[in-house]
Amino acid sequence: MVWRVFRFFLFQLTGALLGGFLPLDNHFHGVLLGIGLASALWVLLDLRRGMVLLNWLKTGDTSNRVRASGLWGEVADRTWRLTKNQERKIEESRSRLNEFLAAIQASPNGVVLLDAQGCIEWCNETAADHFGFDPQRDVLQHIGNLLRDPGFVGYLNSEDYARDLVIPGARSTSSRPVQLAVHLHRYGEGRKLLLSRDVTSMEQADVMRRDFVANVSHEIRTPLTVMSGFVETLQTLPLNEDERARYLELMAQQARRMQTLVSDLLTLSKLEGSPPPSATEWVTAAELMLLCEQDGRDLSKMLVAQSHDLRFSMVGNCEIAGSHSELLSAMSNLVSNAVRYTPAGESIDVRWQKLPDGRAVFSVKDSGPGIAPEHIPRLTERFYRIDRSRSRETGGTGLGLAIVKHVTQRHGAELQIESQPGQGSRFSIIFPATRLRQSQPEARVA
Ligand code: ADP
Repeated sequence: MVWRVFRFFLFQLTGALLGGFLPLDNHFHGVLLGIGLASALWVLLDLRRGMVLLNWLKTGDTSNRVRASGLWGEVADRTWRLTKNQERKIEESRSRLNEFLAAIQASPNGVVLLDAQGCIEWCNETAADHFGFDPQRDVLQHIGNLLRDPGFVGYLNSEDYARDLVIPGARSTSSRPVQLAVHLHRYGEGRKLLLSRDVTSMEQADVMRRDFVANVSHEIRTPLTVMSGFVETLQTLPLNEDERARYLELMAQQARRMQTLVSDLLTLSKLEGSPPPSATEWVTAAELMLLCEQDGRDLSKMLVAQSHDLRFSMVGNCEIAGSHSELLSAMSNLVSNAVRYTPAGESIDVRWQKLPDGRAVFSVKDSGPGIAPEHIPRLTERFYRIDRSRSRETGGTGLGLAIVKHVTQRHGAELQIESQPGQGSRFSIIFPATRLRQSQPEARVA
């Protein structure tokens, strides 16, 4: 500042000196004129510098720094530094905001920010997908205009957001329902945060669990009711020896039915709750075939007067990596089904075959009633039966194919079902080459 005042006076002095040399009558007038002109020049120069600074401020181009000396230079310099500082802070805030938004984008849950009027300010892609929004086009639209589910509209207007609400998602169809749990939270000044979560699988698991408990209760209640009826008869009626024996046999049948059911349930829960079978334990296919044959022939003799025409054949024995008990249970379940659903005396063909690509197939082909195409995808569901009475009559629990599916999956294998009504069925388990090896000589079954 002192330097500026000094320079101003120096300017005036120079003006006065130069004015003194002017060819005027009065030397003093020349000095005054010099001072006046010097002041005017000073003001003009100052004004020009000020104008340059003002223009620079108007354009706001901080990449181009104004170079000026003196007071204006300092003002320009300080303004430039202040602006740069602000720019840096804005840039930092912007990048932090982008990081936050990227984190919310990465969230598996849908997030929608609503303003105090309930209009969309921002939403992440998950929310756009859940509700069918367009993140750009639908900004500033009222949420009630886009989400018209009556349950949601009621929830939004209720102002009571203590609980979650489950509504169908935008992509929900009757064949592929999508369930969303949505929750509104208040924040800021009247703003709201809408969170959404895809709970389809949880809801389905819940329905399955409820169905499962209902099915198990029903399956156990039936034989229990029959048994308690017989117990009452035995207690109240004076029966002769033959009648008592018949009733006791019928009770034993029901007890066996419950035992089979409980044992199948335990097998299933063991399959679901245990780690996959080790790939270092080897089971010989021929041994499994032999055990299946024994089980199949015994069952056939037990069920029908005229046994089935059961044929067992093997092309290329080998060893399977996996659990002996699980594999036997899956394979003999298929043989048992063929025996139980094929009329007496008809043929059943059980095969083990090594394929040229290194895989192997265990297949059971019967000449039974066959299965309509709409039932095939559901056969491996627990308790799914086409003919309930036939299943029960022959000691079925409705869990056999569910066990087979689990075992095949645990062994990296695939279950294939081919069937036509009236033309019999073929159930095949296809083992991958990675789970098979050539039979070791000592393990070969004669
Ligand atoms: P179940 O104990 O009732 O036999 P499964 O899970 O083994 O239960 O089979 C499910 C249903 O699939 C059976 O109830 C039956 O209707 C049908 N099914 C299974 N195997 C055959 C077959 N070989 N031929 C015809 N229907 C079959």
